[in-house]
Parts: sequence; structure tokens; C-alpha cells
Amino acid sequence: MTDCLFCKMVAGDISPDTVYEDDEVLAFRDINPQAPTHVLVVPKRHISTINDLNADDAELVGKLYLVAQQVAAKDGIAEEGYRTVMNCNAGAGQSVFHIHLHVLGGRPMRWPPG
Ligand code: AMP
Ligand code: ZN
Repeated sequence: MTDCLFCKMVAGDISPDTVYEDDEVLAFRDINPQAPTHVLVVPKRHISTINDLNADDAELVGKLYLVAQQVAAKDGIAEEGYRTVMNCNAGAGQSVFHIHLHVLGGRPMRWPPG
């Protein structure tokens, strides 16, 4: 997807602050962090929203969480706790339409979220 910000990062046209990369997944620090740790975990393949996932994507989505686990461990927030969020569509706050798992931590997290 040529007009997708996260696809441009995957392609190397834009260089994010990468914290993890493998064949299928890229993780980088959010440009507008909402917590001391705020990392976005992104599949390299373009999928617009959660609504566009199909059964074949189950393993890939599971992998996003395994990467989140590694990111949290590396940033030293695994034990104190962290939040993972994937917004779906504008009403939930999705602004980049390439799915991404937010990993937020390093400060207390309130519930319910706004
Ligand atoms: P969402 O609102 O759930 O779609 O999340 C999109 C996230 O992408 C927001 O938290 C933005 O701050 C973040 N973001 C937008 N542009 C960039 C960028 N160039 N590098 C890193 N993060 C970005
Ligand atoms: Zn994309």
C-alpha cells in the first residue's frame, strides 16, 4: 500500500525508532508517546483494521502479542504491568489504517480507558 504510513516504514521509505524487527513484524516507538513506554507492534503485511482479519491471520496476530511481551521485557515493564490496545476504526480512535498493537507502560494505567 503506497499511501500507508506504516507500509512506508516497512518498505524503509520512512525510518521509525525501531525496537524489534523480523520477517513478519516491525515494532517502533510511537512518535507521540502517551506513556514512558509506547511502542507500536505492526504486521509487515498491510491489514487495514481488525474487521479485515481472517482466520489465516490468527497466527500473525498472536505473534504481535509475543513481540509485545518481548518489548515489555526489554523496557523493564513486564512485571509492573503494561497495556496492549488495538483500536478498530475511527470511533475507537484508530488514525492509521494499518493494524498495530499499542504497548503502553511505565506509568499507572487507569480503567476504564477514555
Ligand atoms: P491509532 O490512533 O490507534 O491508529 O494509532 C496510531 C499511532 O501512530 C498514534 O499513536 C500516533 O502517535 C502514531 N504515529 C503516527 N505517525 C507516526 C510516526 N511517523 N512514527 C511513529 N508513530 C506514529
Ligand atoms: Zn499499510
